[in-house]
Amino acid sequence: MDTEKIPFARPFIGEAEEAAVLRVLRSGWLTTGSETLAFEKEFAAFFGEQASAESESGRLHALAVNSATSGLHLAMEAAGVGPGDVVLVPSFTFTATAEVVRYLSADVAFVDVTPGTCLMDPQKLEETLLRLKQGLPAYERRGEDGSIQRFGPKGNPKAAIPVHYGGLPCDMDAIMEIARKFELFVCEDAAHAFPSRLEDGRWAGLLGDVGVFSFYATKTITTGEGGMAVTRNSSLSQRMAIMRSHGIDRSVWNRYTDTKASWYYEVVAAGYKYNLPDILGALGRAQLSRAMDLLEMRRAIARIYDDNFKDCACLSLPATGAADARHLYPLKLGLENLSISRDRFIDLLQERGIGVSVHFIPLHTMPYYREKYSLVPGDFPESCKAFTRSISLPIWPGMDNNQIMRVTAAVLGIAREYST
Ligand SMILES: *Cc1c(COP(=O)(O)O)cnc(C)c1O
Repeated sequence: MDTEKIPFARPFIGEAEEAAVLRVLRSGWLTTGSETLAFEKEFAAFFGEQASAESESGRLHALAVNSATSGLHLAMEAAGVGPGDVVLVPSFTFTATAEVVRYLSADVAFVDVTPGTCLMDPQKLEETLLRLKQGLPAYERRGEDGSIQRFGPKGNPKAAIPVHYGGLPCDMDAIMEIARKFELFVCEDAAHAFPSRLEDGRWAGLLGDVGVFSFYATKTITTGEGGMAVTRNSSLSQRMAIMRSHGIDRSVWNRYTDTKASWYYEVVAAGYKYNLPDILGALGRAQLSRAMDLLEMRRAIARIYDDNFKDCACLSLPATGAADARHLYPLKLGLENLSISRDRFIDLLQERGIGVSVHFIPLHTMPYYREKYSLVPGDFPESCKAFTRSISLPIWPGMDNNQIMRVTAAVLGIAREYST
């Protein structure tokens, strides 16, 4: 029996990626330059080429950044988020989604997710917004005597960051309608969603004011570390470009190049250092050119898992859409029909050499947020229910049939042995 460990994630790196990096190493120019610029153009073209009407409604600006976290921070900064503002974030996400709000001294208001999809619940988003608009704290819970306790951040609801969990697109029509009503800035956390389409073919990440994709080592395409912020709003794009590079205004530089020396520049804000170097830009171009192949590989793995798990009473399949990125395969355990916990299930998979993960540990249960906003797990019950049942299985392109079947057999074997 093959007992070699199967990792939870593994980047798909081939000769094209090796050649791209070597080309840059030999070029004499390592930091941001022509490669990253080309990566930005090709990234925007990826959507333009394949979307029909989309490309006509205004140029898509793509800004390469050194992480999705940087991109989210730039988007919040460009939106003018600051002290006294509140940004609405799902409780079921990675900490990066919320921490960028705290960087700017604004407050985070969590919103619970819809069961099944684990996506920000638009109705709960609206309820939280209504409370904030009335000057009430963001959260409420029922006391033991049935009375309503109000607590959590108060302030001006400025923005929302919906997360396309696992690549499954949020209900963006509902979210954007609410955003219009409450004059909310919307930044899509599309870290999992390259590439994901809604049922009608529109691309996730291109529907809010800004969308941010991640190229972290475990994501659908990778530059090791990196990300891309996209927007159709040119003033937002300009502000993000300036703040990405120390607050240096290139357009000023361009205007003065005729009269001033090439060393001249102007600092218009205390910006950040969030640019993506050419070494990584070149890697990104190679990954981008095989993005659809990688997607097909993830889909093929998901199909095999779905087929094998669909008839098992103690397993439920992850929610999926018409054409989502399938970044994760978050299998849900039917704990009612199992004699072991999710944690024990994970131990048993790991004993069989299967690398797994959990997405996500709800953010409101983390010490920082729990203490800051006096939260208890029951405040966002759907996030906690999803967490206690979830196991993310390996779904990386390049898994061979033997590895896929080993994962499948291990899951089914444990499920059968401990089903009640
Ligand atoms: C990975 C991830 C991020 C952050 O991406 P980085 O590129 O590592 O900064 C943000 N949000 C979600 C939901 C993620 O999974």
